[in-house]
Amino acid sequence: MVCRDACPAGAIYGRLWEMSLGRDELFDFQKCRAAMQKRAIEGVGEKDDICGKCIAVCPYTRRYLNFER
Ligand code: SF4
Repeated sequence: MVCRDACPAGAIYGRLWEMSLGRDELFDFQKCRAAMQKRAIEGVGEKDDICGKCIAVCPYTRRYLNFER
């Protein structure tokens, strides 16, 4: 749930991933995109589609990047 809690757009539902789930069952892409475009324009004057906070806090990503096994 760290990704859901870190998401500034409130776009992540917090549902546990399974192979059978589609993207729209896991998070609201439009909500993510709209919030990030607004934040990017306000912050740096450019449109951007992703902030990546959900990825940065993910324990699986962190383990992978640190090469922990
Ligand atoms: S990229 Fe940012 S706004 Fe989009 S789902 Fe991840 S944390 Fe939320």
